[in-house]
Amino acid sequence: MTAPARRPVRMCVRCDRLTETPVLVAEVHAGSGPGFNVYACTDCAPHIPRPPGALDLLATGRHDHPAP
Ligand SMILES: [Zn+2]
Repeated sequence: MTAPARRPVRMCVRCDRLTETPVLVAEVHAGSGPGFNVYACTDCAPHIPRPPGALDLLATGRHDHPAP
């Protein structure tokens, strides 16, 4: 296992391109498991609708899920 050191890249959820400047647009919470984050590139991020749940989290500043 020799993974080369490279900048973290994420796949944009909208255009499916890899971006070195990912923008977190949503947090998906699975019924069982830690869930995962959804990223978009900077071009697509403004076009991604944010789910009401994420807005609630931003409004309250509190997170129910445990920290990793
Ligand atoms: Zn994109």
